[in-house]
Amino acid sequence: MATATGTDAGASYRAAGLVAEDIDAFLEQHRHKSLLRFIACGSVDDGKSTLIGRLLVDSRTVFDDQMAALEADSRQVGTQGGAIDFALLVDGLAAEREQGITIDVAYRFFSTETRKFIVADTPGHEQYTRNMVTGASTADLAVILVDARKGVLTQTRRHSHLVHLLGVRHLVLAVNKMDLIGFDRARYEAIVAEYRGFAEGIGIDGVTAIPVSGLGGDNVATRSEAMPWYDGPTLIAHLDAVEVDAVRDQGRPFRMPVQWVSRPDPQFRGFAGLVASGTVRPGDPVRVLPSGRTSTVARIVTLDGDLPVAVAGQSVTLTLADEVDCSRGDVLAAAGAPPEAADQFEASLVWMADEAMLPGRSYWLKLATQTVTAQVHAPKYQVNVNTLEHLAAKTLELNAIGVVTLSTDRPVVFEPYGDSRTLGGFVLIDRISNATVAAGMIRFALRRAQNVHWQAIDISRESHALQKGQSPALVWFTGLSGAGKSTIANLVQRRLHALGRHSFLLDGDNVRHGLNRDLGFTDADRVENIRRVGEVAKLMTDAGLIVLTAFISPFRAERRMVRDMMPAGEFIEVHVDATLADAERRDVKGLYAKARAGLLNNFTGIDSPYEPPEHAELRLDTAALTPEQAAERVVERVLRAQDRAGG
Ligand code: ADP
Repeated sequence: MATATGTDAGASYRAAGLVAEDIDAFLEQHRHKSLLRFIACGSVDDGKSTLIGRLLVDSRTVFDDQMAALEADSRQVGTQGGAIDFALLVDGLAAEREQGITIDVAYRFFSTETRKFIVADTPGHEQYTRNMVTGASTADLAVILVDARKGVLTQTRRHSHLVHLLGVRHLVLAVNKMDLIGFDRARYEAIVAEYRGFAEGIGIDGVTAIPVSGLGGDNVATRSEAMPWYDGPTLIAHLDAVEVDAVRDQGRPFRMPVQWVSRPDPQFRGFAGLVASGTVRPGDPVRVLPSGRTSTVARIVTLDGDLPVAVAGQSVTLTLADEVDCSRGDVLAAAGAPPEAADQFEASLVWMADEAMLPGRSYWLKLATQTVTAQVHAPKYQVNVNTLEHLAAKTLELNAIGVVTLSTDRPVVFEPYGDSRTLGGFVLIDRISNATVAAGMIRFALRRAQNVHWQAIDISRESHALQKGQSPALVWFTGLSGAGKSTIANLVQRRLHALGRHSFLLDGDNVRHGLNRDLGFTDADRVENIRRVGEVAKLMTDAGLIVLTAFISPFRAERRMVRDMMPAGEFIEVHVDATLADAERRDVKGLYAKARAGLLNNFTGIDSPYEPPEHAELRLDTAALTPEQAAERVVERVLRAQDRAGG
């Protein structure tokens, strides 16, 4: 029995058909076929590999490796380990690949007379959720495989829920191994009825059920003689016929995220990108978002000359009739039907990193061509992917799915994921390691984002500072407990005071007794502690003060977050450097002794990490400097910043 993988199929058919006779004609014909991406869900036991092998063999027209080569030349991507690296181009998880994190998704290629197909083959177990998400995020269709002997299983429900969540519009329930149940119609119909009941319950409609045998090829490419009672399409006939998302997207309003700005000729600036939805013609009125400015499309430029029209799925360069401000990350849209922009969202999130989500930490959020900073708030709930129950959760761990709210530092142009995968799907990226940590799907913008406007303030930051005759700064001391942060910061403050500067010292202990008394010392609480201190410190600099803070602030990411909140040059990070041994020997507050005795948990340096700064403005080696000498260095640095700012 043929259970060929794609490569075997390729080898055995290498010399066959049109390919051998007229490769150019074949390639030409092939290029104009529509492309359907689908994902096969099920485990090896369900006969997934056999069924995929069957599709590759029975479709006959083309083989894995030739398709790969073809796609490679048409899309200009590299190959990796013999298989084309489609994750690189098909989805927002491209970054994942660049960072070398393994996502186990095998992409196979085949085609029929009508269509080209890319099938994502992902492992089925719960611990591979993130792989399934990767494969499903760009799929038009999902084949949910069940073993006719076993019927609908927990994993069947999990797979269905995931592909539904990821916006896969077409679902095929392939009841496989029909040969092993004697092609029993009643058993098949019972399975289908059970599945439909479940699917309707979670809002999936339009399930196509097909009884198949991957092994025998029944109802895969050819109708099964053993099942005359089945009068629906074969699997391949169905795959050939369903509407691909690109076609649906063409019927929606025009949107094109701007990828880059070029000058196709000296007269015009061109805005290049992939048309995400709709059609566009010269003369169409368009709006640039988020600014809202309008203009008219002048030309649609491509390498092969100007086009009279461009549709969803095409990469083009547009020139506009007016000189309007528009740059990478902006979205060009139909002037009369623009998408919204907002800075607070509710979204579903699939956590993909080993390190759990830290509510309050900021991550890069990439949505289409936009990159912003986003804070994820504690999950509203986590979803049990097997039962769909909502569970209370404080965080999301690897492979967990939850619903969260997010706020971004700038408005993001978006559409709900259900309407647009391009403008509704995003990834979160760790700002230090650059790893993709989550995939997200926007459900809606929070109304409060549109209704709360920053109070317009008449007395500016500059006037506050000017009145005090100085320029504001935030001097951020970081280091182990007992390193000398408070001691040195106190000396600095005295000295600044003597010099007539207005300053204020925020100290770990004083803040923890008030503003942050609800916080403990878990990683999540430490993140929130620093976030609040950062916000308070920023407000104080807005009031024109030189703010000194003395917090262990063990994580780079949070120090970086505060740095990014501040105008350039106003954040001065001071690493008060003492070895753990020195800090422990000083043990001013007796805390190290307690921690060593096991009476204090999560103590930095003992059972909680300290991440030393990599690019601090100043490092003070407390083994070499007295507190007074160290303080003098800081004062010098602060005064230098004042001079530079002209304060
Ligand atoms: P932190 O605020 O970093 O927890 P503290 O300033 O409260 O640390 O405590 C540091 C202790 O170490 C103080 O008792 C200080 O006198 C002592 N110390 C010894 N040498 C130095 C030095 N070179 N710089 C700063 N502090 C020092």
